[in-house]
Amino acid sequence: MAGTKEALMRGVWCAHKPIGYDKIVINGETKLVVNNEGKLLRKAFYWKVNENLNSEQCVARLANMGLKVSHQKMSTIFRNPFYCGMISHNLLEGKLVEGKHEKLISKEIFLKVNEIQNKNSFGYKQTPEQINIPLKVFVKCAKCGTGLTGYVVKRKNLWYYKCRSKGCCVNKSSEALNGLFENVLTDFTLDMQNADLMVELLKTEFDDRSRDNAETVMLLKEQYQEINRKLERLEERFMSEEITKELYLKYAEKHKEEQVKIQRDLQQFELGTSNSEDCARLIVGYAQDLRKTWLSGDYVDRQKLQNYLFPKGIPYCKDSGLVRTEDFNSVFLWITRKQGDLGQKNAASQV
Ligand SMILES: [Zn+2]
Repeated sequence: MAGTKEALMRGVWCAHKPIGYDKIVINGETKLVVNNEGKLLRKAFYWKVNENLNSEQCVARLANMGLKVSHQKMSTIFRNPFYCGMISHNLLEGKLVEGKHEKLISKEIFLKVNEIQNKNSFGYKQTPEQINIPLKVFVKCAKCGTGLTGYVVKRKNLWYYKCRSKGCCVNKSSEALNGLFENVLTDFTLDMQNADLMVELLKTEFDDRSRDNAETVMLLKEQYQEINRKLERLEERFMSEEITKELYLKYAEKHKEEQVKIQRDLQQFELGTSNSEDCARLIVGYAQDLRKTWLSGDYVDRQKLQNYLFPKGIPYCKDSGLVRTEDFNSVFLWITRKQGDLGQKNAASQV
């Protein structure tokens, strides 16, 4: 039993395998991977989130596709965090552990299906700062370009964003600025009558892109490695007292900035290369209500979505509010355009 507990703590599931998974052995290591039944079950999670189907309707659709699941079993599946990569077990005494098995769905989808608004059930605790000023650093002062910081007036428990640069005088209540950002998200939100078609189109687009971008991705990865080597050399020179701490810090920071930029580019290029269909599904799901997705996430999720949509942040100007930039995520831009095309086609077919 001690061995079992130890394995569970490491994220290795050693009890009976849940429906939707196969056990395979790779290099002497046993792995749990999603099988064909699992792929169908994955659809059920998305039906719930994207189409608002209840469990009964999901059971019926799955049956049509050749997978028989009882009503009760379906509910158990929807509630089992194993499918989003988490392990819970009596031996873990209420603790959830990040599993080593393949995820069927993301945590976001799991939480949405279970209509859980915050992730305290997963053991994360958010600080008041994270809850109140999620746009910190991400929103830039339009005047000087610096990321806004935040502070709280404790007496009133009111939070504010501000620019630290002298002379900018940018100061905005967190509630107001968060609201402005929600409006931006609402503007970009897509009214999609044909989500399935959009998933198909996006999947094809991803496949095309990953073919076109393979070379660029390789190049970027090489550049990243090259900077790693530079950083190592720099560290060695600092350790052997060839260079001063000041110089070391100066160059290390410069290299790290470059790496961040490369990573940002890679994110855009690599998106959808590993599993284009899942990726397309997730993004189309998000695109249907960006604001809701953002609001339902915790601090980490919000940051991820913000940075994903606006890779360079979004400027705030005292007079004109949040400034819409051209620097909007290329995939979402693509969806917006495609949707425009589809709308025209629909209109044409009605004539
Ligand atoms: Zn400023």
